[in-house]
Amino acid sequence: MTTPQTVDPAPETDPTSAMAGVTLWASGRSGTPSPWAAYATEVLAHAGIAHTTSSDPRGVVLVTTPVTADDAARLASFVADGGALVLATAPGALAALAGVEEGATVRTAQVEIVPDDAWTHLPPRPLRAVGGVELTPAPSTRTLATWPGGAAAVTVHTHGDGVVLTFGADLLQSVVRIQQGYAVTADGAPASDGTAPIDDDILKAEDGMALDLETDRALPPREGPVPANYTHTYPPPSAVPMFDTPHADWWRSLLLQATWFAAERSGSVVPWLGYWPAGLSAIAHMSHDSDGNSPEDGRAALDAFADADVQVTWCQVFPGGYGPEIYEEITAAGHEHALHYNAMHDADLASWGWPQIRAQYAWAQAVTGREHIVSNKNHYTRWEGWTEFYTWCERLGIEIDESRGPSKQGTVGFPFGTAHVSFPLAEDGSERTFHDVLNLPLHTQDLAWAGHASIRDVILDGAQEQHGVAHFLFHGPHLNIRPLTRAACLELADEARRRGMEWWTAERINAWERARRGVSVEVVADGEELVLRVSSDASVAGAAILLPPGVSVAGPPHALTGVTRHGRKFTELAADLPAGTTTWTLAR
Ligand SMILES: [Zn+2]
Repeated sequence: MTTPQTVDPAPETDPTSAMAGVTLWASGRSGTPSPWAAYATEVLAHAGIAHTTSSDPRGVVLVTTPVTADDAARLASFVADGGALVLATAPGALAALAGVEEGATVRTAQVEIVPDDAWTHLPPRPLRAVGGVELTPAPSTRTLATWPGGAAAVTVHTHGDGVVLTFGADLLQSVVRIQQGYAVTADGAPASDGTAPIDDDILKAEDGMALDLETDRALPPREGPVPANYTHTYPPPSAVPMFDTPHADWWRSLLLQATWFAAERSGSVVPWLGYWPAGLSAIAHMSHDSDGNSPEDGRAALDAFADADVQVTWCQVFPGGYGPEIYEEITAAGHEHALHYNAMHDADLASWGWPQIRAQYAWAQAVTGREHIVSNKNHYTRWEGWTEFYTWCERLGIEIDESRGPSKQGTVGFPFGTAHVSFPLAEDGSERTFHDVLNLPLHTQDLAWAGHASIRDVILDGAQEQHGVAHFLFHGPHLNIRPLTRAACLELADEARRRGMEWWTAERINAWERARRGVSVEVVADGEELVLRVSSDASVAGAAILLPPGVSVAGPPHALTGVTRHGRKFTELAADLPAGTTTWTLAR
């Protein structure tokens, strides 16, 4: 499922030669590559961009690992002849071709993106970069982003008829670190303003955060300042700074923007696959945690979700249970039974470990009557280590995990920088490259109780802007006895629908993402014609294939709409894909 899409380069004599959307450069250099380089295939796969791993440069060439002098010479002539190169690694032997000199390394800093024709969508604030090098641009090289001291962090350089974009900021390391954080082995440091006391003697996802509590947060619009006597109590006495920007998604977006810019400049076509079914630019997800397992709270939650008209992912927490009637009502209402793994030491088996989660999974199967539970959220966002937890999910058959999110008022929003599902990178040196578990980020717990009401629209805006999923969690006890939280839940449901966002369960998100990962989209030249060739492992209803604007299409039933994604105009081709290969003829 997470194996990168690899297409063998077509031989020169093949009459149907691919337009080669993206070539991932197979470096001739020996040695151990950076562990982050592998994540390029995950970023491309999530965007539905097919790539060829090759040292035969075609289309847009993406370089993620250091190259040899021989590689550099071949790539220089490729660019001189009109090719396009995107470097997502320190330029090394490609520095002259990139029109830069490589300077000091950077551990972590905020990067300011500079307006330029190369970008179609600019982040609202500087982005957190983890790793990278300072670049000194040659006089003819444009700076597309800067480090705090003024050195270039991203550049673009014209060489002959071609173009080279260089990310000195380590984009791939930044995406992984921001999404997955660091291994959780001790409490993290709290925010100095008291709004995020993560030093609570409970190991949880936030303790490994790569984003900075002091510099990567902002108050919601029109709120603040935080009063001098602020204390972290419930409900929040005021709005507090939040992670308002999905930094990792913005880095992904910048790589995609660079790729489409490079394609346009070099005359290549890089089609891609919409994140959601045609016509949807973003979605919403509501989950419920059964903390306390009180039947009254369960009924109150059922009632609230019926009024909200939302089917939720209902995470069942051990020990106890609601009793069979409520579980049956949850099933009948169309909610998804999921696991709420408890490692809070409040019962036997309620601790961190494989035998414990295995036992709790079996308990959840027994009480809910659902045999294959595919989704999980960890109670209190508990976490330990880096990726071992995903190996437990893989063994159990949990295909999507939604534990990574906030437990404090001042960490709501995008503490892991993303509104997108993603497959996590495995530990360096392990047998696999990715874990076969989707990470579905969590953005806030109960509105008007755990999070200030003003955060709602910041989360919806951020998810919509990146075409992702906005995830809101509620608890039965608060829906039951706190009218403001119940009202906030209903208003949220309507507001997301008003914005055109459908409410999906985690199970549905998982099934959709895994189905679209089985779709491969490419444009091939067949004589004088351009052919769009779409192969799918299974049938996919309502797939959205994004093509350059203004293209005309002939072939099997489809609908064309103009859309804007990542700030760029595309023609969206909507079609129900059968299993197998479907082709359309394109004309511009
Ligand atoms: Zn819980």
